[in-house]
This record gives sequence, C-alpha cells and structure tokens, in this order.
Amino acid sequence: MAYAYDDQNIFARILRGEIPNKTVLETEHSLAFRDIAPQAPTHILVIPRGAYVCFDHFAHAATDAEIVDYVRAVGEVCRMEGLEADGWRLISNAGTNGVQEVPHLHVHILAGRRLGRMLQ
Ligand code: C5P
Repeated sequence: MAYAYDDQNIFARILRGEIPNKTVLETEHSLAFRDIAPQAPTHILVIPRGAYVCFDHFAHAATDAEIVDYVRAVGEVCRMEGLEADGWRLISNAGTNGVQEVPHLHVHILAGRRLGRMLQ
C-alpha cells in the first residue's frame, strides 16, 4: 500500500520550525512536545522526524535506527516526566476510523490522572 504524505500537515510544519511547540525531548530521529490541547495533566506527543503518516507506514518504511530512536524517545519521555510511579497510557490514532486529525505519525502519552477504562 502507498502512503501519501502531506508535507503541509501541522507536525511537518512544527518539524521545519514554522510553528512553535513546547519541546520536551529532541533526538536524532524524533521529537516530543506538549499537546496544545491537553486531555490530561501530562499530555505529550512523540513524532518521528521522517515523513510517516501512521504507525503501519512507519513500521513498514522506517530504518531500524529510526524505529529504535522513536521507541527509546517514548520511554525516555516517560522517565523524564517521572510517569513510572503512577502509570500512563500510550495511544496512536490512525486514519478515518482511528479519528486521526494530523496525518503525521504521533503517539500520545497521557498521564497525571486516572484515565477511563474505555479508549474512545
Ligand atoms: O491523534 P490525533 O491526530 O487526533 O491528535 C492530534 C493532536 O495534535 C491533538 O491532540 C491536538 O491537540 C494536537 N495538536 C497540537 N499542536 C498543534 C495541532 C494539534 O498539539 N499545533
């Protein structure tokens, strides 16, 4: 399957420095920043610097170095924010049914309150 990447999406613009963000962590292949409309006391997005639409695109097309960097960046953010004590949730929305708003792969790290059982 071909993934069409829109290089005008808002996260591509953040990566190019065209739009400000509250950076939490920068690595060679990844960027973590605070969500502009937080759904929990801690709400951080982690994105790869590469042009990947969603998780399956990333898993299929990214290099091993990008994938390792990305997974480590997620873990590092949790460690930096001290989330291991009370726990946290990782979500990645994809496509229409996943109600993905921004078509650049991102995971949401949510923490700081007891989250509901449902993933909706
Ligand atoms: O997973 P989904 O694509 O729906 O989430 C996109 C997220 O990007 C939203 O939580 C929204 O608040 C966030 N966002 C942001 N900064 C922007 C635009 C959107 O943090 N400039």
